[in-house]
Amino acid sequence: MHPALLISIVLLAALASALLLSRCFGARNRVCCLMYHRLLPAALYEKLQGTERLFTVPAEEFETQVCELVRQGYRFVTPEQIIDFAEGRETLPDKSVLITFDDGCVSVYQLALPILERHGACGTIFMTTDSHSAIFPESDTTQRRMTEEEMRDAVSRGLSVGSHSVSHRPLRGLADEEIRHELAESKRVLETITGREVCAFAVPGNWYDARVLRIAREVGYRGLWWSNPGWVRPAGTALGLPRIHIEGHYNLRQFRHALSRIGVFQRALLSWIKWLPGRILGPRFWSPIRRVILSVVPGGYISLGRLTVAGLLLVGLIVFLIILAFAQR
Ligand SMILES: [Zn+2]
Repeated sequence: MHPALLISIVLLAALASALLLSRCFGARNRVCCLMYHRLLPAALYEKLQGTERLFTVPAEEFETQVCELVRQGYRFVTPEQIIDFAEGRETLPDKSVLITFDDGCVSVYQLALPILERHGACGTIFMTTDSHSAIFPESDTTQRRMTEEEMRDAVSRGLSVGSHSVSHRPLRGLADEEIRHELAESKRVLETITGREVCAFAVPGNWYDARVLRIAREVGYRGLWWSNPGWVRPAGTALGLPRIHIEGHYNLRQFRHALSRIGVFQRALLSWIKWLPGRILGPRFWSPIRRVILSVVPGGYISLGRLTVAGLLLVGLIVFLIILAFAQR
């Protein structure tokens, strides 16, 4: 490899890391959105395998986490407040949190809602409207989609509803008209069921591109959440709001770490590294590979020590390649 190319890569990597560091450690006002999917009683959670251990949270652990947020003085806010904050129209204290649940599984209604009610908290469900979507396995009735009646009851008890598309297909692989249908039809269906405006959208599987953002704005969404880790800051736009994924195996210490500056930085760094193969391979090839990687290396293994070792190894490799390139000249 040409030395100039290597030096450019090193400079680019350094610039990207500096940007990431400034975003995670900058002193500006910031609030957080947490991302959950499904809940199960702890005894059933122990029987789960593979990636389900990341995307399902034991109900008892979820209650401990909500208690911890209350203990730390967090204020629970709505998607509309986050949108206004991101667009610079509303100020929020740093300890503001939006709890979100993707997909719309019945376990959120049965297990999470009573916990939120007990602790004076609120949250948002991002619903996939097709109850036959592959995200709701027919063999597992504990994770079926919420019924319309359950949705209306959840809304009357303080949960708000946003859209998570019609079918949960990766939007980035679809034609413009299909994306428009996924966004507009789910919005229409949810507004009919709840009788309220649906202005928030969460991207299924984090498969988005510029077209998804543009069409979301065109069909009337004011806020779009993705799964990129980070904090929400007053950035002038609410179409591209980051969230912190709370993985099912987290204990209380890991939960606190996930909310810390260093915890968010670690996840932002990892997602930046993971972004590239997804862009190159596309959803069809990258999704199954990602599933295997996630089942082997869940986030619990990502400690600061291991990341430091990995970083040092990477720097060593780059230095070695530079020396090699110069030696060959
Ligand atoms: Zn989803």
